[in-house]
Amino acid sequence: MSSTDEIKKLEKIRSTLIMELLSITEMIPGAFNLAFRKCGKSNCWCSNGKGHPFNRIIWTEGGKVRTKSIPDEDISWIKRITEVHREFKGKCREIQKIDGEVKKLIEAFRREVIKHTRGLRKYL
Ligand SMILES: [Zn+2]
Repeated sequence: MSSTDEIKKLEKIRSTLIMELLSITEMIPGAFNLAFRKCGKSNCWCSNGKGHPFNRIIWTEGGKVRTKSIPDEDISWIKRITEVHREFKGKCREIQKIDGEVKKLIEAFRREVIKHTRGLRKYL
């Protein structure tokens, strides 16, 4: 039966993906970027420019755009853990895709077995 091999193959990939997800210890949603903000002091140079540069991550949560300032010493860490989160989401999408394929294949398998079983008795 062809569907069983395909299901086993997909389940192996799925299992590997889940193990990869479970090995993650640090991640956070958000995209790192450099933004600018005016401090509000009327005598500051920034009142005529785009503002003071600051590092931040930006993400959406419950339909709302959220941002957090990031200290300079954590930039590379933040870049890494936001990337890990993107990869996590990507793997989740892959798992969902596999789930959909496996669901179809299991249905095909069910039909194959029923067809085979009906062939065993004339009255079925
Ligand atoms: Zn300023």
